[in-house]
Amino acid sequence: MRTLLFRSLFAQPATLDAPPPGAGALEELGRTLAARARHLFGRSLAIRQVDAGSCNGCELEIHALNNPIYDVERFGIRFVASPRHADVLLVTGPVTRNMRIALERTYAATPDPKWVIAVGDCGCGCGVFEGSYAVIGAVDKVIPVDLHIPGCPPRPIALLEGLIALMEKVASKPPSSRPRGTGTIVPRH
Ligand code: SF4
Repeated sequence: MRTLLFRSLFAQPATLDAPPPGAGALEELGRTLAARARHLFGRSLAIRQVDAGSCNGCELEIHALNNPIYDVERFGIRFVASPRHADVLLVTGPVTRNMRIALERTYAATPDPKWVIAVGDCGCGCGVFEGSYAVIGAVDKVIPVDLHIPGCPPRPIALLEGLIALMEKVASKPPSSRPRGTGTIVPRH
């Protein structure tokens, strides 16, 4: 017991040091995204994440956006608890048969104007679940998708780049004149 106590007193933290504030691509991407969202909406960007049947690998990367290293809420990107408060639906996984109605209802409950991002190889094209009896397919088989972010899973930086690509797309075309269901492919990282 005493050995354990001494060891824990002098042990170094097992975690990595956080990058210093202002360092690297993260700060630059975050500030760019915050500025574009403020310019377009006059406020922060609200995101509702929907797991339509993923293995939860994509969720781990999405959750990382809110951890102490990425901490994207400081850039005005908020994950909200209800689709009624959301601008963007971030949908992961192939859509399973059991989740189809829930996804359609979530889409219907999101106020216009709204945008949908399919996240991960599964959300973009069914991925490793292709051919399974339990899935309907990619997200765009069920609801219109504005942007695809491939990867298995995509890293948090790729998610931020995808959100910036969406803001650019929104800025270039007002929602009313925008064809639905055609998405920009963000390069894999
Ligand atoms: S893309 Fe990869 S990590 Fe994401 S749900 Fe599919 S298998 Fe899981």
